[in-house]
Amino acid sequence: MDAAAEHAKSAETSRLAGAIDCDVHPRAPYLRELMPYFDAHWADTARYRDVLMRELTSFPPNAPLMRRPDLGVAGECGGTLATLQAQVLDRWQLRAAIVNPLFAGSMMHDPHLGTALCRAHNDWIAREWLDKDARLRASIVVNLGRPENAAGEINRVAMDRRFVQVIVPVQTEIPLGRSVHKPIFEALVQHGLPLGIHAGSMFRNPASQSGFYSTFSEDYTAHISAFTAQVANLISEGVFAEYPDLKIVLIESGVSWMPPFMWRFSKDWRGVRNEVPWVDRSPADMMRDHVRLTTQPFDAPAGTVAKIVQQLGSPDMLLFSSDYPHWHFDGDDAVPEGMPEEQVGKMLVDNVLATYPRLGGIQ
Ligand code: ZN
Repeated sequence: MDAAAEHAKSAETSRLAGAIDCDVHPRAPYLRELMPYFDAHWADTARYRDVLMRELTSFPPNAPLMRRPDLGVAGECGGTLATLQAQVLDRWQLRAAIVNPLFAGSMMHDPHLGTALCRAHNDWIAREWLDKDARLRASIVVNLGRPENAAGEINRVAMDRRFVQVIVPVQTEIPLGRSVHKPIFEALVQHGLPLGIHAGSMFRNPASQSGFYSTFSEDYTAHISAFTAQVANLISEGVFAEYPDLKIVLIESGVSWMPPFMWRFSKDWRGVRNEVPWVDRSPADMMRDHVRLTTQPFDAPAGTVAKIVQQLGSPDMLLFSSDYPHWHFDGDDAVPEGMPEEQVGKMLVDNVLATYPRLGGIQ
């Protein structure tokens, strides 16, 4: 690397010093690693049911989307603690990073087994990641199959304030706003936790309304429709009206689809708003108050980034993320090219602290 390139790189990395990365991915544990965290019953059950946790991540660990070939460790769908420290935390001198597990326990059809797996995983993350680096924070994994169980797990894990949100895949069995999920929202609000909705699936429904696709690229692109459906449902079912302090974070959703969706949903709502009298203001305004988006991947050409940010109509919605070590990870170019400078400062720290109250104490 010549001197000019080296200078440009150090300027970019120093811009990230003190930032908070809202989406990095830990590798999925092997079943044997979770065994110490099961009680006797679930250890026995996990053994005889031969739970295929690692294979049940949204994409197979070796799928290209799951790891950039020059990062992390071969065969792992996320980073190890050592690679995350070297390639992200130390390199950029971050203040903190939120590890977001994409964990098979969330997808289990048996909600009791799924909750047991999630419970073991949450404890494993606390011991093997959070205890080993004070800059790390984590998302709580839950199984949505039995919302009372999920709420119980949130109440248990939330006692550890290093857990800063609950994470679920965007493609769920039923829409998140349905009242059956009320125990989960009650627990979120009680503990001041946002709900993180990450790209991924419980594999109950096709990725599109037209049926199952054949390829990863089709599936991944189709996620946009799942994100729009969840946001529209949360607003229409009155979740934000009932929980005015609740925030949701759309993680790895992309950003460019948001302004046209805000416009279209608000326009259609005007014509049929008698359906939802509890939606007492424009859905776009509700999204500006309640919905946040992580920045990686910023799915638009550099020349359009500033326009998209302007069309969001709020400087508060974007949260910095690198998506390490997935394919979208852009290394030292983690701030999308063309991002207005005043937005960069907000998304690196201010917006993150406003979204995650539990991050407030990190220096
Ligand atoms: Zn991600």
